[in-house]
Amino acid sequence: MRPTTTPPTIRLSDYKQPEFWIETVDLHFKLHPTETRVRSRIVFKGNTERTDGPHDLRLHGQDLKLISASINGTPLKDDEILIDAEGLTIPGDLVPQDGFIWEAEVQTNPQANTSLNGLYMSKGMYCTQCEAEGFRKITYYLDRPDVMAVFTVEIEGDVPVLLSNGNNLGNGKWHDPWPKPAYLFALVAGDLVSYDDHFTTMNGREVDLQIFVRPGDEGKCAYAMDALKRSMRWDETEYGREYDLNLFMIVAVDDFNMGAMENKGLNIFNSKYVLASPKTATDRDYELIEGIIAHEYFHNWTGNRITCRDWFQLCLKEGLTVFRDQQFSGDARSHAVNRIENVLQLRARQFREDAGPLAHPVRPEEYIEINNFYTATVYEKGAEVIGMLRTLVGADNYRRALDLYFERHDGQACTIEDWIKVFEDACNTDLSQFALWYSQAGTPRITVTEDFSGDTLTLTFTQTNPDTPGQTNKKPQVVPIRTGFLAADGSEAAPEQLLVLDEALKSFEINGLVDKPTLSLLRGFSAPVVLERQTTNAERAFLLTYDSDPFNQWEAGRDYALDLLQDMILNSAEVDPAFAKAMRAVAVNEALDPAFRALVLSLPSEDALAQAIFEQGTAPDPDAIYAARQTLAKAVATELSDDLQGLYTELATPGPYTPDAEAAGKRSLRGAVLSLISHLEDDCATAKAQFAAADNMTEQLSALSTLIRHGQGDAEVQAFYDQWQADRLVIDKWFTVQVASAPADKAVDVARALTQHKDFDWKNPNRYRSLIAGFAMMNPAGFHRKDGAGYEFFADWLIKLDPVNPQTTARMCGGFETWRRYDASRQQLMQAQLQRIADLPDLSKDTAEIVGKILN
Ligand SMILES: [Zn+2]
Repeated sequence: MRPTTTPPTIRLSDYKQPEFWIETVDLHFKLHPTETRVRSRIVFKGNTERTDGPHDLRLHGQDLKLISASINGTPLKDDEILIDAEGLTIPGDLVPQDGFIWEAEVQTNPQANTSLNGLYMSKGMYCTQCEAEGFRKITYYLDRPDVMAVFTVEIEGDVPVLLSNGNNLGNGKWHDPWPKPAYLFALVAGDLVSYDDHFTTMNGREVDLQIFVRPGDEGKCAYAMDALKRSMRWDETEYGREYDLNLFMIVAVDDFNMGAMENKGLNIFNSKYVLASPKTATDRDYELIEGIIAHEYFHNWTGNRITCRDWFQLCLKEGLTVFRDQQFSGDARSHAVNRIENVLQLRARQFREDAGPLAHPVRPEEYIEINNFYTATVYEKGAEVIGMLRTLVGADNYRRALDLYFERHDGQACTIEDWIKVFEDACNTDLSQFALWYSQAGTPRITVTEDFSGDTLTLTFTQTNPDTPGQTNKKPQVVPIRTGFLAADGSEAAPEQLLVLDEALKSFEINGLVDKPTLSLLRGFSAPVVLERQTTNAERAFLLTYDSDPFNQWEAGRDYALDLLQDMILNSAEVDPAFAKAMRAVAVNEALDPAFRALVLSLPSEDALAQAIFEQGTAPDPDAIYAARQTLAKAVATELSDDLQGLYTELATPGPYTPDAEAAGKRSLRGAVLSLISHLEDDCATAKAQFAAADNMTEQLSALSTLIRHGQGDAEVQAFYDQWQADRLVIDKWFTVQVASAPADKAVDVARALTQHKDFDWKNPNRYRSLIAGFAMMNPAGFHRKDGAGYEFFADWLIKLDPVNPQTTARMCGGFETWRRYDASRQQLMQAQLQRIADLPDLSKDTAEIVGKILN
């Protein structure tokens, strides 16, 4: 063992091909909870492009006990193997440089592996997670994505179900004919039952589909299976991609760090993204299950068949696959509603990241721990970049480029340069400036001025690209701005145009106009930028009524609310009655989709307001923000008081529950109406009645949340627990709703008390997040309590989790990433907690990297 040192920084510019390739891997597992034995037989081949030899053999490995190792059948002696904490090295003079067979046996302890990386146990079931670098906890290997090999696996164990990737050869034997990097390896073994179906591909091949769950959960798989089959068909019709094995399996696991994982032919899912029944899952859960099932399935081509050369290229597979799952969900539901929801997420997570100490480019250039880069920037901004590319080249060219991508790179480990080159070749265009979206961090800010004379409108745009940690003096990027021009009667005064802003300052002329039109800028949110524009509330009300682009229609209402709330918070302004009237007009407009109306009625989040106020140069006051939202909601409720009961009755969805978008949209608007009604009732009678009568989780939970918010839910909190105590996914919701909806002054006490609850199994990531993240991220006024009790509570729990599960701890530290927004006293309190974490002697490198960045 070598002494602990500062973990190294890995840099994109240091990339080198491996010294050796791997052709085939044979693995034999003898499973045991504490003493699992893994035998490996790996066929290595020299890399002829690495002429700088002779090379040592360097293999990754962590927490492994090496039993034996040999090269070409000759056992290696102890002094011929140099083992350290990160792997082993065999001196080059013992390694045939053109190729050899490596055989080894190692022992691991799955039971002791609480990191949930590598091979671990979840309630008696064996499970793996290898992305990004978990395979090195299973055996010694070249654990890097550019090394792709054919795997054959044999599993022995005293549990009935033994699964791995590829095709089932029987008796625990599996063969995957498609070469893959080790991060796509998977093994699952346990007492599981399967929910089965099948799919016929576009070329008539039969594929068996299986979802494996714990006995008792098989009744909750139908929706996930339906989503899987629809995803498989969609990828055929929209991208021409056919599935390539005769078996596709999904396994639901309770203890999982992430949402789901796209291992070849054997996707492993956090059970919350598989299991659903009307009584236990909300509409939002159904939507997420559909989207995540699609996402992981789509990876079969964008990620697995074409993978990443190194982890800096993570956005190559993630940005593209998120974009594809967003397209799928838009097709399956409503494009307008999905786009608004995606942009809300993007602003809440990615813009927040871009504005803080953790800002990084879509393709980062260095990291200490790659697990820290599974971020909103890589995923969501990565998807926005693809969306812009499609807007710029057009749908037909996009499809042509994707066809070329699959044709040219199938079976390869690729880079962003390969991706860009495909578009340049297929569309005969130069994308060198566009590529800056991958290398420059931060959210571009766009301003616009209008000048109208004669029949010509001149629009002059500027863009600035703010400094971010490690990056200054950025170049102008390519910003596609879809723009509409509305006449006074609400019709389109001129056809929509795509204005491409590719300089720091650029003007566009629109001719042939009769009168000065009202602009509808950045339709569909055609670029992930902040648009700063002087406008009037009258113009916003006009766009909210007439804009034919539903995104901008919603955006107009949102800008109106944001401005008004800031004015109320910063200048003690009164509620503008025109705003409440505009909200009423949308709420009762039956020509509009109920889901869309619900989105218009939901006010900007407390975090969005805090960021907006901070950007104006003032420290946000979380209590004032909370109070202003309450006041405005009450004003809207009062304006709508004659309509609310009627709406509430009309929007009921009688008959058996269905999770489709139309019914879900009605429930969503009904939930918003319930929330408004409760501002006008002292006893929350409507919410109490809804809670008592609800036959689905969406309505039960929205009633419970409303009751807790108004301090009326004690009996219902207990009743909900009594009803659902045996259902772990519902009990996660029970923890979250109490901390997220608790009044600000009580939130810390509620959270603290819940950590003492017998069901608070904090080593389970879902349960931990449901309470700790629910408090820190969903109750801003409670978290930012003046005396710092919220910060201390949160830091205590980060410190407790770090030695057990560094990956989840590091991700949760993002709760502190906005600390510099706040007043001096709160900053000091948060900084003290961050420093307390940073000073821990055995802090994981995951958490150390994130906390270090947040502090600096
Ligand atoms: Zn993914």
